[in-house]
Amino acid sequence: MSYQVLARKWRPRTFHELVGQEHVQRALVNALDQGRLHHAYLFTGTRGVGKTTLARILAKCLNCTSKGDDDSAVTSTPCGQCQSCRAIDDGRFVDLIEVDAASRTKVEDTRELLDNVQYAPTQGRYKVYLIDEVHMLSSHSFNALLKTLEEPPPHVKFLLATTDPQKLPVTVLSRCLQFTLKNMPPERIVGHLSHVLEAEKVAFDESALWLLGKAADGSMRDAMSLTDQAIAFGQGEVRHRDVAAMLGTLDHRHLLALVEALADVDAARVLAEIVNLAEQGPDFAGVLDDLVGVLHRLAVAQMVPDALDNGHGDRDTLLALAARFTAEDIQLYYQIGLQGRGDMEHAPDARTALEMTLLRMLAFRPQGVPKPAQTPLPLKATPERESAGEAVAPADTAATSSAESRPESPSEDDASEPHSMRENAPWAVEERPASETPAAPQPTPEPPPWEPREETRASEMAPPPWVEMESEPEAEVSTAGAVVEKPQSAPPPEPRERNDHTAGATEVSPDEVSLHQGEFDHASWLELFDSLKLGGLTRNLAAHCVVDRDDGSALHLRLDPSQAAMNAEVHVERIQKALTEAGVERRLSIVEGELPTEYETPKARADRKAAERHAQAVEALQEDPHIQKLQQAFGARLLENTVTSQN
Ligand SMILES: [Zn+2]
Repeated sequence: MSYQVLARKWRPRTFHELVGQEHVQRALVNALDQGRLHHAYLFTGTRGVGKTTLARILAKCLNCTSKGDDDSAVTSTPCGQCQSCRAIDDGRFVDLIEVDAASRTKVEDTRELLDNVQYAPTQGRYKVYLIDEVHMLSSHSFNALLKTLEEPPPHVKFLLATTDPQKLPVTVLSRCLQFTLKNMPPERIVGHLSHVLEAEKVAFDESALWLLGKAADGSMRDAMSLTDQAIAFGQGEVRHRDVAAMLGTLDHRHLLALVEALADVDAARVLAEIVNLAEQGPDFAGVLDDLVGVLHRLAVAQMVPDALDNGHGDRDTLLALAARFTAEDIQLYYQIGLQGRGDMEHAPDARTALEMTLLRMLAFRPQGVPKPAQTPLPLKATPERESAGEAVAPADTAATSSAESRPESPSEDDASEPHSMRENAPWAVEERPASETPAAPQPTPEPPPWEPREETRASEMAPPPWVEMESEPEAEVSTAGAVVEKPQSAPPPEPRERNDHTAGATEVSPDEVSLHQGEFDHASWLELFDSLKLGGLTRNLAAHCVVDRDDGSALHLRLDPSQAAMNAEVHVERIQKALTEAGVERRLSIVEGELPTEYETPKARADRKAAERHAQAVEALQEDPHIQKLQQAFGARLLENTVTSQN
């Protein structure tokens, strides 16, 4: 038996075999069963989605004789056995006239074609005209077609198919019943291919089918042809490696390895993965495109996990990866990736451009730069500087930021490790003079030119407004300009509760350390919170927690259930690190649960204090003699919701 190509052999012969077009199938089956037949149908959709296949099935439905020869025997389930069905399947049914308009656009041809419309069918019940790529007809041909559509002879059905319905005259469109065929999503193609290959007893890797499904770009016919090629290429099997080689596509696993390296903030591994990639001789611009695509899917995985497609059969991997990035990082990397793609043509070569783009992602992370490899700097610390009080603070900050930016490897779960790193770090001494010497390069990178980065950085680095307001003893009260024209002088300062913790405080006094060696309760948490070096989403997560219990080695925080979506591993690690730096060395766990009503979270406390400040400000304004004068003279009204307190 000679080999028949899959696309032909598996061409659907009934509506029920048609994959992925259920909406069209149901409409046509109902119309056929109820005998409400239109005289002209238009099928639109991109190439290879089944337009002509659908038209042929419809031709069989109209002409199948298994239920009798008269007009009422039209069926939605053609038998496939009768003379008409077999003739249509074999392409030799004289009353099915297939026209490829792409090769027949002259008006005479169409006129000749339509001249025969008047004659009754010779073999079947209906004469079926299938005009493919109908948008290619000339305007004269359209006019000829239109005349026929206006007064269609009985026993004639027109089935028009096009990839480009916009090019059809509205006069034709309005006389057709239009069905839009959907593009085949890769999932659907993979499902169908595995069904076909199992039936054909061809061994295959599912990941190979995903490659084929992607390459087919929505066309089932292309997917089948590619699978035929893959079977030939793989000598009877469809294997991932063969298909990747045949399609020249990049192995998706290399991409995921790159993203893994980004998640670990491991610049060395990023470069090593690019070396691996280079062995495949890829299109580096394509690699960057694919990487940007993965970042997009990671963002989807973070925000709406259920909406994540299984486009490469890697859904679970991506969901796990998504938990290892912050949302800001993903957005930033995406932006840098796009920018890098645009700059690629100016780079000396594409590989350099790819490497620089990936390194830039790590360099511009909001949480700080990964530590470059250490080489001793020529400058030495002088004794005066070492003993000077002002020099201690920068050294401490430098050491802290380097500890922060180290890759978050599992070994750091041991909470004491960053601390010892900090004490032993050789660069803490080496870098201090360098950072104070004007000639030396700045240790932190300059902010990149695009703006989102600035915002991200600000939100990550700067404490939220309530922190500054709390630590500031005096609050100047003013109103929005629309209410009072003249700037108001500050009312007498209200006494504030004493607060030793300022936003930037990094040093922990001996008193505090001894406090934290005992039980770390919720009061300690509230007291310490504002001085913790936390930013952005991490700070927000922590602000919604209360202390559940502390046994001296493990600290359990309870999270407001409404914030459960925020609870990611990366944030927990950062909070644990910040606590360690503040002298509270604990293994941290954060679990969602109902909050006890007697405790307020740092967020609730900040909200309450903001409300109190607002009330005080409103009260101060109401008692202000200038405002009272304005109210009496002009009937001015104080808009309380426009009052803000400023520090
Ligand atoms: Zn039949």
